[in-house]
Amino acid sequence: MADNRTGAADAAVMIDEDESTFEAPQRGSADELLDVGAHAPIDAMRHSTAHVMAEAVLELFPDAKLGIGPAIDNGFYYDFALPRPLTPADLDAVEERMRASVRSDHAFVRKEVPFAEGRALEERHGQSFKVEILDDLAKKAADAGGDVPTTTFYEHGPFIDLCKGPHVESTGHIGPFKLLAVAGAYWRGDEKRPMLQRIYGTVWETQEELDQYLWRREEAKKRDHRKLGVQLDLFSFHDVAPGSAFWHPKGWRLYQTLRDAMRGLQDRRGYEEVYTPPLVHQKLWEQSGHWAHYRDNMYLVDVEGQTFSLKPMNCPESSFIYRSRLRSYRDLPLRLAEYGVLHRNELSGVLSGLTRVRHFVTDDAHIFLRPEQIASEIEALMGEIREAYSWFGLTPTLTFGTRPDKALGDIDTWNETEAIMRTELERSGLEYRVKAKDGAFYAPKIDIQITDALGREWQTATIQVDRVMLPEQFDLWYIDEEGRQQRPVAIHRAIYGSLERFIGVLTEHFAGAFPLWCAPVQAVIIPIADRHVDAARELAGELRTGGLRFVEVDESDNRMQNKIRLAQGQKVPYMLILGDREIEARSAAVRRRGAAKDEPQEILPWAELAERLGAEVRERRLA
Ligand SMILES: [Zn+2]
Ligand SMILES: [Zn+2]
Repeated sequence: MADNRTGAADAAVMIDEDESTFEAPQRGSADELLDVGAHAPIDAMRHSTAHVMAEAVLELFPDAKLGIGPAIDNGFYYDFALPRPLTPADLDAVEERMRASVRSDHAFVRKEVPFAEGRALEERHGQSFKVEILDDLAKKAADAGGDVPTTTFYEHGPFIDLCKGPHVESTGHIGPFKLLAVAGAYWRGDEKRPMLQRIYGTVWETQEELDQYLWRREEAKKRDHRKLGVQLDLFSFHDVAPGSAFWHPKGWRLYQTLRDAMRGLQDRRGYEEVYTPPLVHQKLWEQSGHWAHYRDNMYLVDVEGQTFSLKPMNCPESSFIYRSRLRSYRDLPLRLAEYGVLHRNELSGVLSGLTRVRHFVTDDAHIFLRPEQIASEIEALMGEIREAYSWFGLTPTLTFGTRPDKALGDIDTWNETEAIMRTELERSGLEYRVKAKDGAFYAPKIDIQITDALGREWQTATIQVDRVMLPEQFDLWYIDEEGRQQRPVAIHRAIYGSLERFIGVLTEHFAGAFPLWCAPVQAVIIPIADRHVDAARELAGELRTGGLRFVEVDESDNRMQNKIRLAQGQKVPYMLILGDREIEARSAAVRRRGAAKDEPQEILPWAELAERLGAEVRERRLA
């Protein structure tokens, strides 16, 4: 399941999240519980498989109480209250019965039933969770002054379930499937309610698609950045600071290398780096609107009887720097970059490695400019995106979010800004799609997504062209050619987004085998015997002079083959082996990461090695 939280530290995110609760059914509400998750054609089959699974579970456990069973990305689940924890053998038995039901090709029959009758049916079957959903619906209807709703059920073979549908025609239309896992899930997501057992499964149109999905899933487990983070000694998490990474030396090398690369790009583009306080008084958040809309997501701190907050984003404070002196049209664009320390109060239950954290840093910037500079700035930003993602061999796709229904500012300004952005998106040559009304309430936005090596889509960062929030709410202006006061435009931009999240995504994309230029250990020199260690240190020095930063000499008393195996396990791009012969010729045997055992090793002179590898780093070559 893709985690679509943006890493960009922007006010847009906050209001979007807040407003989304008006449209989507409330978490745990009866409406949400009845949503079968069928939004794409294949989802009807996925949800139908959930019904067949519930049928099988009821056969094995006649007293099972049913929760909900929607379609989800790649499959489905169903929640059950059962007399005992399920075992792998249980899942096999459930699968067996499901196959029998598919072979029987039972039709799915929709039944409309008066409310009282439907409720009585669920009560008769002892399905107390379903009764609860129905009572909630009735109460909601009564509160709204309407009649009790008609209930719909879907029946196939021996099984009947409260359900809005849709379903496939019959169980025979269900494709190849597999049950995957059991996990605990609170009824209605509420920890005070019973803990149910959730069975996850996957189902596809063809066996080939199922096989591919199962392979991707296995591969994703191997690439899990939380696992690789430990294996490669990059970072760790501890219960004393949930949702906040402890960066180990190697992980911090990676972090700094990525940040340095972005700093280099920013220098070339004329950004200035700033730094503003992480702990800020409540009154700033009142002015920015966060206090009203976002307070629950902020960590509040009492300081001498006054309320401060750890900042969840850098935007408002950047405007203080802008306002600190009189700005003329000649000063613009003013590009202020900030690697600020941000905190957001995520529930502990949703924290996940580096991709869902409480503490993070983004490659954030606020660009203040004149309205007539929007086009050229967006064009330049498209270049930044293309360049930065090319360092990793990634081709980003973009999403253009336009004016939402509830938007600040006048419609002509919105239209003008959107038209400029659209033209620049077209000209960029990058693939993009339009998501109507998906902009922030104060700015149209461009979201950056990447597709990783396993075909998973991740959202990384956001660009917003804000003509209202920072400019108006913080009363920003500049003096134009005629000496008049004018409002500047503020572009909020991040390219990587959250560095934490970006590193998590990269780790999985490369399966820990980072390109040489950003690898936390770039080369390991392997002396065959103790007498070769001095020469190995000397070679390390030459490589550093050539432009490598992280070269290690394996001085352990392991045998050569062991040293190679260890370096392979650490996914080090180059292993350089030194014995008597090599040292005499001031050369080294070069072994590349992932080379086959019997692949002949190249013997290269030290000077040439240093030059070659140095160039590979400077040019950020990918292989
Ligand atoms: Zn259904
Ligand atoms: Zn911002």
